[in-house]
Amino acid sequence: MNRFKKRILLLGLVLAVAGITYYGYIRRSACIVQPKTYTKTIYSFLGAPGSGKGTLAEQLVKDLGFKVVSTGNLCREEIAQGTEKGKMIAEYTRSARLVPDEVISEMLENWLNQQKGDQPIILDGYPRTKEQAKILAHLLKTKFPDYRFRVISLDIDDFEKIVRRMAGRLVCENKQCQTTTHVSLLKEPNKFICEKCGSRLIRREDDREEIVRKRLADFVKNNNEIVAFYKEAGIPVESIDVSNATPESTLEAFKRII
Ligand SMILES: [Zn+2]
Repeated sequence: MNRFKKRILLLGLVLAVAGITYYGYIRRSACIVQPKTYTKTIYSFLGAPGSGKGTLAEQLVKDLGFKVVSTGNLCREEIAQGTEKGKMIAEYTRSARLVPDEVISEMLENWLNQQKGDQPIILDGYPRTKEQAKILAHLLKTKFPDYRFRVISLDIDDFEKIVRRMAGRLVCENKQCQTTTHVSLLKEPNKFICEKCGSRLIRREDDREEIVRKRLADFVKNNNEIVAFYKEAGIPVESIDVSNATPESTLEAFKRII
């Protein structure tokens, strides 16, 4: 090989190394200067019945202007509007069958498309199963990639606390009053009388101990599957310990992590 050829080869080598280094630099700096920007955040709460998900959602709507969407409400609206989908949902409901997950997902997609503004959104009671979690993750990834999806789990160390809390819940039977209280808060524990209106306090069918235990068992099964799916899909689950929380302290804990 003559000297000229050697020089050309050396020059080529230098250029190749410089090119690779520059490309790496561009890629790294692109990652640094352009973090993923989200236009909106969607929250999904995990938590056993009685963990205070509903109360937290209500507070976030009232105090921080969050929007909340419940798939149950979406179904009811669709039925009320008498759409084709509404008729189909009504048919499922009449025959006591579950509305297919795909139908729920379509309604959710339509609802999300109609939302203007950047207020955070709470998915109330959704997803409830691993299958729904999968469909939701796919929907957000494909149709709403600029939405940040955050999963918040309201954790309770001891389910007996939930059983005591729920099985002791009382509600005023006067439809105009509907005050709720707890058996441990009654001034006269033997008299189930509403302090506001004097009507009788009753226990909801759903709050009976055996029904609470059944709902907790169902929750544990579905929740474990959902959490396993999120882990597999790389979706972080953030926890708030609500074992001894009040609605106020749960709200404060939530505000600290957002
Ligand atoms: Zn009352």
